[in-house]
Amino acid sequence: MIIRPMLRQVRELVAEALQPGGLAIDATVGKGSDTLFLAERAGESGRVIGFDVQEAALEKARARLAEAGVAERVELMLVSHAAMQNAVPADWHGRVRAVTFNLGYLPGGDPAVVTEAESTLAALDAGLELLAPDGVMTVMLYAGHEQGKAETQAVLRWAEEVELERAHVLLYRFLNQRNDPPVLVALEKRR
Ligand code: SAH
Repeated sequence: MIIRPMLRQVRELVAEALQPGGLAIDATVGKGSDTLFLAERAGESGRVIGFDVQEAALEKARARLAEAGVAERVELMLVSHAAMQNAVPADWHGRVRAVTFNLGYLPGGDPAVVTEAESTLAALDAGLELLAPDGVMTVMLYAGHEQGKAETQAVLRWAEEVELERAHVLLYRFLNQRNDPPVLVALEKRR
């Protein structure tokens, strides 16, 4: 699986930013693998909110979190991440240590349910706003499908325009893969 080194990078960034007791958001729960990672890092006293618009995805994730014994620290919302700003409790604002996005469609899920540039950009704005100083936001982008190309371009343009004073913005990409490999954008909020 070519994306493995990149997913490892996501986890390293998140692990550094998110300590036990911390708050985190998974903007695209899917089958819940990032949600589970966030919940484990956040520990028993930490809290995680996850968003997805597919009930089938949330069901799978719910089972996985329960099996791992971390379900109590996670709230899964059947809500678009575009509504993140209002869906997250007011006292989380400026205190979130990590926000993860894994865009595109759910492998094995409904291929018609795919993240879209407009709602993704709204969610990225909200995520950046919610982050604590030194908090991290990661965005996995897949340009291999048609919609993903436009979304990837839109996110890269958005990321380039984040003010230097607001966050450090990094792009991780493969230099030797074929067929539009995934790219990772990572933001570290500044004080
Ligand atoms: N491309 C990844 C998986 C992405 S899963 C991989 O290859 O592993 C993306 C998830 O985002 C899906 O479960 C989908 O239901 C969800 N999603 C789509 N639009 C969304 C939205 N507006 N808000 C929240 N989740 C959304």
